[in-house]
Amino acid sequence: MSELLDSEIKFLPGVGPKRAELLQAEADIHTFRDLIYYFPYKYVDKTRFYKVKELDTDMQYVQVKGKIRRFTTEGGGSARRLTADFYDETGVVKLVWFKGHKWVLNAYKPEKEYIIFGKPTLFSGAFNIVHPEIEESEKRETRVSSALEAQYSTTEKMKDHFLHSKAVAKLMATAFSMPALRIPETLPPAVTGPLKLMSLSDALFRIHFPDSNTDIENARFRLKFEELFYIQLNLLRYKGNRAKNTHGFVFSVVGERLNSFYANNLPFALTEAQKRVIREIRADLGSGRQMNRLLQGDVGSGKTMVALMSMLIGADNGFQGCLMAPTEVLAIQHYNSISRFVEGIDANVALLTGSTKRSERTRIEKGLLDGSIDILIGTHALIEENVKYKNLGLVIIDEQHRFGVAQRAKLWQKSDCPPHVLVMTATPIPRTLAMTLYGDLDVSVIDEMPPGRKPIKTMAFTDAEREKVFGFMRRQIEDGRQIYVVYPLIKESESLDYKDLEDGLESMARAFPPPQYCISVVHGRMTTKDKEISMNLFRSGQAHIMVATTVIEVGVDIPNASVMVIESAERFGLSQLHQLRGRVGRGADQSYCILMTSHRLSADATERINTMIATNDGFEIAEADLRMRGPGDLEGTQQSGMPFDLKIADLGKDGQILNLARSRAGEILADDPELSQPGNQLLSLNLRKLFGRKFSWSEIS
Ligand code: ADP
Ligand code: MG
Repeated sequence: MSELLDSEIKFLPGVGPKRAELLQAEADIHTFRDLIYYFPYKYVDKTRFYKVKELDTDMQYVQVKGKIRRFTTEGGGSARRLTADFYDETGVVKLVWFKGHKWVLNAYKPEKEYIIFGKPTLFSGAFNIVHPEIEESEKRETRVSSALEAQYSTTEKMKDHFLHSKAVAKLMATAFSMPALRIPETLPPAVTGPLKLMSLSDALFRIHFPDSNTDIENARFRLKFEELFYIQLNLLRYKGNRAKNTHGFVFSVVGERLNSFYANNLPFALTEAQKRVIREIRADLGSGRQMNRLLQGDVGSGKTMVALMSMLIGADNGFQGCLMAPTEVLAIQHYNSISRFVEGIDANVALLTGSTKRSERTRIEKGLLDGSIDILIGTHALIEENVKYKNLGLVIIDEQHRFGVAQRAKLWQKSDCPPHVLVMTATPIPRTLAMTLYGDLDVSVIDEMPPGRKPIKTMAFTDAEREKVFGFMRRQIEDGRQIYVVYPLIKESESLDYKDLEDGLESMARAFPPPQYCISVVHGRMTTKDKEISMNLFRSGQAHIMVATTVIEVGVDIPNASVMVIESAERFGLSQLHQLRGRVGRGADQSYCILMTSHRLSADATERINTMIATNDGFEIAEADLRMRGPGDLEGTQQSGMPFDLKIADLGKDGQILNLARSRAGEILADDPELSQPGNQLLSLNLRKLFGRKFSWSEIS
């Protein structure tokens, strides 16, 4: 039985309605379980010893060095208890046990020196310590680490109401001392046994009340393992089920469109990586199973071509394909380049975005329904309710991290037989995170850049060195190159950001005056039409400089642009910086990324800037990002939304545990795919509890 775990926190002695409200609002603690899963962020050594005569009722936990004298059994029935006098040179305190009498009598010897640890309470005029932790004094002295006290993070508001770390610890102790508290085991012996995992109840107790560092390690290991294990079990179960059950459209023929495209239109030789990935996708499309594939490839690696060729395969088999981009600018760019690529090929391409005109929209909707449109490119307008397809067979999501979970869920519901799904991402995701977010997807990686690209040179300058930077920019322009200048745009201070942009634009216009220089501007407050005019001004080479907010972050492809200047670079996250840098280095010329920063930088910002200077490798950068910030803050994951919170596991550090959890989950499913064997009942029960009613990630990816 586990009712107590699910009871509201206000029923815990010492909480009450006021504190319950605080715990809920500030720490998301609603139930006993939430409290127990509120893990300490660190531990402190218990080095302080008290003398018996110093004991007081308002003390949380004390440790006292002394000896036991005389055990006595008192009371009867349920009040029966074992007591002992514990004394030092200053007085006597009574130790009390309600359980485990035999064990206690066996374990502790009178006249031996012990250290006891517990909370003193006053009972009929004398101090008691109920169920104290007891340790031999000698052992403590020989041990390297001493006992450790858990520290809990608390907010200012909590502290204002005396809910500081110690108070949380006290609540924790109260909860654990409640005889009715039962923590049912959540992993079967087949899992805990071979790995020698602590029981859940031990782990939860020990993580709050460890005796040693080993205790903490073991408890953490058990809890992290469990957390990652169930995620993997869930993902792998879906993956397995889908492999068996989900029928997919069969794209079996290689037809006229792809062949003629390959023979006549392909503007360059595909890289080996592109070829391999297209083969992998083709195998999926022809397999009769629905494809769910993640395509990872660093910025500039040529994912668009892979997308196009996949859609042509679809068209050859009579299916429509759609390609969703995160921004209108990017959708338009895709539309333009794909339209150009397929010139002369019998493939009808259309563009649908939020600002497509009514009449055009009606025409497109008709073409989608009657099947005359083969390829639809657009933004989320593609997945609006009223957009219906005749025969949608393939959905490609570009730069997926800008699409929220809910948006993709909609997509899934578009047809009875789910279309093939290809998720393309240029945000290199660390392996551990990919395994956790996309563990049910097949993964293809483009790990090779088109030939002839020179690594981008990255440099950092402060505002004081601006003249130098301007000089460099002028020389680049003289050489016929083009330059991006990007300003941060962070939602919370939007108007301030626009002011930065405007100020920057002004100084830029002074340094690069017309008619010698032409500057184009793109930012989110412009109409689509104006944005397009500005983009075209730059794309056509008329404008030398494009000043923009981060709307250009994703996917914009202008090979002649060879310098990326990022203003207030310290305000950008690592993956954003990497994305921005990826806008240059697309042509054959040496490209540069210039990070403008203020004079004083935080340690974190310095590390980000240094990482950017040190490496061009997106995966290295993603790993650094994960290490520095943790997955919750990783760009991309935030927008797409982790389908769960990791309470204890850290994807930046726990890769090994993750591997272990995944392989154990895989073994179990290989043996019992439906988890129907009696020994696996607990697993399927917990899977249902954890993922059952909640949105299931793998169903939409
Ligand atoms: P991303 O993977 O970032 O979406 P794109 O698909 O935009 O990259 O490709 C970047 C640039 O490289 C484009 O100009 C594209 O036409 C070009 N490109 C793609 N594949 C090749 C290739 N195999 N050889 C040469 N250029 C290529
Ligand atoms: Mg792209």
